[in-house]
Amino acid sequence: MRLQLLPSTVGGDGTAQLLSSYLIDSSICIDAGSIGFHASLDIQLAVKHLFITHSHSDHVASLPTFLDIQLGGGIESMTPITIYATEVTANNIRQDILNDRHWPDFVRICEELGQDLMRLEIIKPGVPVEVDGKRVTAIPVDHVIETMAYIVEDEASACAIITDTGPTSEIWQHCHEVQGLSTVVLELAFPRRLQWLADASKHLTPDTFVTERQKAPDPDQLSILAVHLKANQYEEIVGELGELSLPGVEVMKPGVDYQV
Ligand SMILES: [Zn+2]
Ligand SMILES: [Zn+2]
Repeated sequence: MRLQLLPSTVGGDGTAQLLSSYLIDSSICIDAGSIGFHASLDIQLAVKHLFITHSHSDHVASLPTFLDIQLGGGIESMTPITIYATEVTANNIRQDILNDRHWPDFVRICEELGQDLMRLEIIKPGVPVEVDGKRVTAIPVDHVIETMAYIVEDEASACAIITDTGPTSEIWQHCHEVQGLSTVVLELAFPRRLQWLADASKHLTPDTFVTERQKAPDPDQLSILAVHLKANQYEEIVGELGELSLPGVEVMKPGVDYQV
């Protein structure tokens, strides 16, 4: 399968990450941080299954414009878009975003119109969802609000997307049971000197990134892609990660297709 961190800066070829959206092949996306800002409307329109990790703004910021693009095609031509989230996150999205005040409540509108345009599907941690030949499983991680990591598997391979989290354990236990796990996307939000901030906001620094990596099955055989580097400390974090010379570890590049 193909995995891409969607670009989240405008202008230039910036590597800094501001927002989170991970495109898997073409029809599955994890998080709506930047998908709804993507220059290619074809890429946006191809996504029909949107999984949300948690309701922080950098993971849902573009949900309104993404839904606008999806629903703007008109009822006749629409394939429904399904948003998958835990009950807590789904409630947060409805209360904070699709509340008619921030953005129209498309859930209510679809119900009132009797139109199957958008589905908000509640998922349960540990219960896989089958979509377009992929098996997607949400596993809780440890962040300041309920947050899910996702394991995505098909017949050939598997990857895990683990963001946002501080030190955690359950997702790693699941990783040990996944057949064909080749790639782990793992957050690395702050440099070492901001360990206090990482602890308070439940994120990782290079020190805790290393201890998390050691929890993975065969870490030296895995491709581990570091993500969620805070944009204004990007070079500092990249430098600290480079000094560790960890086999198979690199900073994930936006806009690049990774073969998982
Ligand atoms: Zn977060
Ligand atoms: Zn985040």
